[in-house]
Amino acid sequence: MKVFDLVCDKDHGFEGWFDSADAFESQLARGLVECPLCGSASVVRRPSAPRLNLSASSAPAAPAPVPDARALQQAWLRLARHIRENTEDVGERFAEEARRIHYQEAPARGIRGVATPSESEALAEEGIEVVSFPMPVSGKEPLQ
Ligand SMILES: [Zn+2]
Repeated sequence: MKVFDLVCDKDHGFEGWFDSADAFESQLARGLVECPLCGSASVVRRPSAPRLNLSASSAPAAPAPVPDARALQQAWLRLARHIRENTEDVGERFAEEARRIHYQEAPARGIRGVATPSESEALAEEGIEVVSFPMPVSGKEPLQ
């Protein structure tokens, strides 16, 4: 489909939808294109380029269902518990410890702790993978 900007002899602007430019010319020649406001068949195309109507192919996909907040919270708590059970808390020594493990100066193991953004950035530059994960505050969220 193509959309043409049309205007009648009373200067009413409107849009006409046609299969092609040829279809428009053909319908216009037969007086089938009328102004929706005044019914005039004296219609001309505005000197603007026709636009392709892409709505059929570019229509946005149906919105994803909103995840249930409670299910998300539970998944987060499960993951937090898993991390807590499988990592050693090194607190503020996190960056230092991650570096020691990376350079095999300390036994390889999962660790967790806190790192400043600049520390995380420095680790990333050294090729040390760090994942940021918001842990629940101890004692506030039941993890067991
Ligand atoms: Zn008109």
